Amino acid sequence: MKVTVFGIGYVGLVQAAVLSDVGHEVCCVDIDADKIENLKKGIIPIYEPGLTPLVQSNYDAGRIHFTTNAEQGVAFGEVQFIAVGTPPDEDGSADLQYVLKVAETIATYMTSEKIVIDKSTVPVGTGDKVKARIAKVLSARKQDISFHVVSNPEFLKEGAAVNDCLRPDRIVIGMDSSEAESSLREPFNRNHDRMIFMDIRSAELTKYAANCMLATKISFMNEMSNMAEKLGADIEMVRKGIGSDERIGYHFIYPGCGYGGSCFPKDVQALVKTAESIGYDSALLKSVETVNARQKQKLFGYLNEYFADDLAGKTFAIWGLSFKPKTDDMREASSRVLMESLWAAGATVQAYDPEAMEECQRIYGTRDDLVLVGTKEAALKKADALVICTEWQNFRAPDFEMIKSSLRHPVIFDGRNLYSPQRMADSGIDYYAIGRGKSIHI
Ligand code: NAD
Repeated sequence: MKVTVFGIGYVGLVQAAVLSDVGHEVCCVDIDADKIENLKKGIIPIYEPGLTPLVQSNYDAGRIHFTTNAEQGVAFGEVQFIAVGTPPDEDGSADLQYVLKVAETIATYMTSEKIVIDKSTVPVGTGDKVKARIAKVLSARKQDISFHVVSNPEFLKEGAAVNDCLRPDRIVIGMDSSEAESSLREPFNRNHDRMIFMDIRSAELTKYAANCMLATKISFMNEMSNMAEKLGADIEMVRKGIGSDERIGYHFIYPGCGYGGSCFPKDVQALVKTAESIGYDSALLKSVETVNARQKQKLFGYLNEYFADDLAGKTFAIWGLSFKPKTDDMREASSRVLMESLWAAGATVQAYDPEAMEECQRIYGTRDDLVLVGTKEAALKKADALVICTEWQNFRAPDFEMIKSSLRHPVIFDGRNLYSPQRMADSGIDYYAIGRGKSIHI
């Protein structure tokens, strides 16, 4: 089958690579000319395990094409995926300009029947807007060409995106008529037993409900961790205690220094805005966001308290910049809140991340108070303390003697609860984690 994907970011590129790998011919369209040129040269713009060889082999086999030419893209595929960004607008609601622009582009160039599948995360009702936009352009062109609009929200996780796309838990398909159903089964035929059909509005809401549920679990656990800390309890014990209940489960109940990434923060905000637009006060989701914003300040609060409000001129080692392991994505990362707070307080950051250093440089440029180093050990040299923001595997079993001898003050602030407090006490390192009984009252 010939398929076109608009928007070659985390979602679009992974989707295109997986579709081409199972034998479909895929045309990838993006407005970012540098990105497209790089992709043609084999330079993959994001770090995602397994993605580079998948893209490369299918590009070499001629099953995946890259272009900035939207007209060619529209002509190419019977199915047109929309996978562009839906960033937060100024008020937090989802900005649909990119999605609607692609709808307009498809309508401008289409000369035959198309199935338009929206993979971007969009508020309930967007399917209707996409339909209306296409119909309007076709009518202005005086063309009576049939088209179908389908919602197919994406549930991949960055860091495991290829695997999630190859072996999804479920494929949600929202459609308001069953006419396109047989054509739709084809791009997904390898996983037809995982397909869940529903109406478009329910599919759109399913995506937000999933992300908001996961964000709620995290914020709930962070709330518990803050209480555990003040009550002298260990949240890691509590986590094990509650996770063993199969109604609760172990997933997404890890306490930490807040969730980030391109999805949870914006999707929680967007659903709050959707609720407002229908006159509903989403008290729970607002709290999820408030708890998360507070949690992202947690490590800075610890540092400030420990160093008695005197951070100016100090240097802090940071391990981990990406919002989670196995990605270079720093969108809404907790590390950014920490670094920006440290800079405002006059401190210097000496940081290491296995994959996100380039991204950090791209975001913050060159500045005297940001030193990016090539190893986790180098980040410690003459630093006043170590702060851990991301739970990369490589940080789980460090040489604690080396940490102790490299730091000016033997203290670790662990935003991801990687170490045992007992082990830290034995090694003579002052250790502050999240909700583990030892509290600096902030
Ligand atoms: P991204 O920012 O990585 O990529 C979006 C791409 O769209 C960019 O390359 C941009 O240049 C391109 N683009 C913008 N306008 C275009 C146009 N008119 N024509 C062609 N290309 C255009 O975004 P992403 O992280 O892949 O997210 C895309 C959507 O999927 C969002 O709605 C997001 O919420 C959702 N989503 C993301 C993830 C994730 O983990 N990143 C997971 C599930 C769902």
